Amino acid sequence: MEKRIVYLDNNATTRVDDRVVKKMEIYFTKFYGNPSSLYDLGFEAKNAVEDARKKISKILNCSDQEIFFTGSGTESDNIAIKGVARRYQKKGKHIITSSIEHHAVLNSVEYLGKKEGFEYSLVKVDSDGIVDIDHLKSLIRPDTILISIMYANNETGAIQPIEEIGKIAREKGIYFHTDAVQAAGKLSLDVKKLNVDMLSLSGHKFHAPKGVGILYKRTGINPIPLFHGGHHEKNLRPSTENVPYMVGIAEALEIAYDEFEEHKKHIYKLKMMLKEGIEKNIDGLVLNTPKNSVFNTLNYSFKGIEGESILFSLNDFKISVSTGSACTSGSLEPSHVIMAMGREDSISHGSIRFSLSKYNTEEEIKYTIEKLKEVVERIRKISPYKV
Ligand SMILES: *Cc1c(COP(=O)(O)O)cnc(C)c1O
Repeated sequence: MEKRIVYLDNNATTRVDDRVVKKMEIYFTKFYGNPSSLYDLGFEAKNAVEDARKKISKILNCSDQEIFFTGSGTESDNIAIKGVARRYQKKGKHIITSSIEHHAVLNSVEYLGKKEGFEYSLVKVDSDGIVDIDHLKSLIRPDTILISIMYANNETGAIQPIEEIGKIAREKGIYFHTDAVQAAGKLSLDVKKLNVDMLSLSGHKFHAPKGVGILYKRTGINPIPLFHGGHHEKNLRPSTENVPYMVGIAEALEIAYDEFEEHKKHIYKLKMMLKEGIEKNIDGLVLNTPKNSVFNTLNYSFKGIEGESILFSLNDFKISVSTGSACTSGSLEPSHVIMAMGREDSISHGSIRFSLSKYNTEEEIKYTIEKLKEVVERIRKISPYKV
């Protein structure tokens, strides 16, 4: 009998919710008009986009005029960072970000540094993978124009002190962006409480399709667009609106927050079950996920073992996990996030991330614990390394 896949890699991407697919469907085949067109088919499409924008703005506690649709989380990060840096460079050319950011942020900042004469500083994290506020404060300079710190880390799940950083940035008159891609459906996205000026989201991390993102941008901030074209999204992101995907991402976000408590309870229970199962059955572990983490993520290093060998062995049992961010997996590079936490090289090479969703079951978790125990014992038996 063909075994079903046990998908525990929901920080890489998620299954699209059937209700989202259903909601999107008619915008492919029935209301397929261009929202800019001046006839009913166009109006229907335009209304759908604006309804989607309103739904999102309610969850983010902002005006619908502050919600912009983009092509991805990466694109939202790029618009926020490059757009603001370029627009306000006369005020200063210094940017602060952290050593544990997603590559969409890290590489954008690095690009500005290498190619456009900006300077940047990386905030350190503690051994829990949480940014060091005192270090951040010490990095602020008169010419600092932008701080970009993620809300929740994709590899460890560590929640960052966004409210506090936002307060500091505001006091100093520095723009503050957060990559909240891993926080959607897991933490409050109230931009007023969070004190953020810009916030990025990606649909495929919360059961909407890949290839659609959201950028919240406070009114009054004007990033220079990356693309130039028509007047869509108030010139910030021109190109004909991807109506079905905009409808889909709004529907998925609404479902995530309507059903928040229910999913939180279910997923957290499974995470704790997995945690207890792993810690009871396997030794030589280093826990890389701190207490203050999103409820779906659990990351361990297994001493003496490369993360990849566990990943591939679990895949033989149809269990999908990852060694950290999908961009580095396969390259056998140690995780920059685990390294930044001060773990030694061998520990950073041995990290495995389990990221759960509402679709996981207790049965899947039990099966995973059993197979993980088997796999780790087998690999350690043939490995010369002694725990
Ligand atoms: C997945 C992810 C991104 C990139 O989003 P895409 O829509 O895949 O471009 C950015 N930041 C974080 C933290 C992510 O997990």
